Amino acid sequence: MRVGLGYDAHRLVAGRPLILGGVEIPYHLGLQGHSDADVLAHAIADALLGAVGAGDLGQHFPDRDPAYKGISSLILLNKIMTIVRERGYHLINVDATVVAQAPKLKPYISQMVATLAQTLRISPEAVNIKATTTEKMGFTGTGEGLAAYAVVLVDQAG
Ligand code: MG
Repeated sequence: MRVGLGYDAHRLVAGRPLILGGVEIPYHLGLQGHSDADVLAHAIADALLGAVGAGDLGQHFPDRDPAYKGISSLILLNKIMTIVRERGYHLINVDATVVAQAPKLKPYISQMVATLAQTLRISPEAVNIKATTTEKMGFTGTGEGLAAYAVVLVDQAG
């Protein structure tokens, strides 16, 4: 068995949709980035790549590559699951935390779990998503941006 850790942060800006875990969340700001800037999907992606010793997200999907401009991060996650499988591993579980002062994410957590589980090809029971604030401290606390942490466990495929 192997574990992987992922972390990501993106700036909140006007004129962008807010996509977290593949789910569009109604909010007056969205995350800035080359792809859809889904900070939660990116943290999970890096955790998966870390667990199988395959580098990081930017190495596989460079943010200067026009092919990935505006791309759904679920497509990237799907490609990464192929890498995980090619390396001889299967995913056991994901645990992640989104750090956001606002908006309140609780109403969308179950939809994020369902969406991510489908993309990661595992049971929703194996995907846990949490949300927390930083009590108004730091860049997530002031609303400058959002961050996400993820841990995954993989096992060698039968
Ligand atoms: Mg990112």
